[in-house]
Amino acid sequence: MEKCYENKMFRADEVRPGIYKISQPWFRDDTLHANAYLILGEKAAVVYDTMFGYGNLRAFCEEITDLPLILINSHFHGDHAAGDFDFDFVYIHPFDLPGIYNGFHQDAQGLLEAARAAAKPEFAPQLALSEMCVPKPMKTYPVYDGDLFDLGDRKLEVVHVGGHSPGCIVLLDPEKKIAFSGDTCNDNTIISRYPCDSLEEYYVGMQHLRDRVTETGIEYFFGGHFSAGVEIVDEMFELLDAIFAGKDDHVRYELNRPFKTSALYAAKMEPMFHRVDGKSANIQYAEDTVRRRPYEPRLLTEKNPGARRVKDNF
Ligand SMILES: [Zn+2]
Ligand SMILES: [Zn+2]
Repeated sequence: MEKCYENKMFRADEVRPGIYKISQPWFRDDTLHANAYLILGEKAAVVYDTMFGYGNLRAFCEEITDLPLILINSHFHGDHAAGDFDFDFVYIHPFDLPGIYNGFHQDAQGLLEAARAAAKPEFAPQLALSEMCVPKPMKTYPVYDGDLFDLGDRKLEVVHVGGHSPGCIVLLDPEKKIAFSGDTCNDNTIISRYPCDSLEEYYVGMQHLRDRVTETGIEYFFGGHFSAGVEIVDEMFELLDAIFAGKDDHVRYELNRPFKTSALYAAKMEPMFHRVDGKSANIQYAEDTVRRRPYEPRLLTEKNPGARRVKDNF
């Protein structure tokens, strides 16, 4: 029987033995949802991502397990890493490290307003300023491709993919044939916004992921917004090859979430994020994120440490 834990701010559903998918069910259906994962081992537990910073995720995980918690970020974005600051430390790829301090909202008031805007109307008044996770200095440890997290009876392998953000990593659990994939590979893979890599760089990262997934027999990806069978990797290569050949669907859509924007997609959708041909993978890209761009030195200042690897030219 699957276990489930719930408090005011979070819900954890056991999707595999010892693996909990964490969500925030008080979000409205028409807003952006994100998932974190709690992965229990014999000696320690991994928390993979912390979502928006609405609520104390650490306290919630400590209601579920007494094991020491190892926090790992799939990447730096504010819908995945904003709840980091209630933990003692985080592992993150160095390319994404500066970004965790530049979340969507910098103070408790901004977080509270965003949380209320995302909440179901009956829940919004229950949200409090004191429940918001505010950015503050914390111990950060670099994590690199090939690193292994040893939880005793479970070992998780780090695969650096990049693309969506330069430091995007996937965690493989080869024993259980599953992976935790963050935003690297889904029905709305965004390779169009600063400071993403180019599609050519993403292609190289995905080749590496495909190799490791094939070698380890991974069958399923638990994503940060969307989960899918491993066939999504081949679908992604079909799209990438089509884009490079100028033969993708190349359709522009007006988006409302998480903010209003106009974006190009490789595969036609109807309704949004459901491909008309029934496949899962899709890529949001821009004309100038297709080709590898020249590397520029990062400009580091006291105000903006930046996470850029390439010229900010889009
Ligand atoms: Zn992201
Ligand atoms: Zn995301």
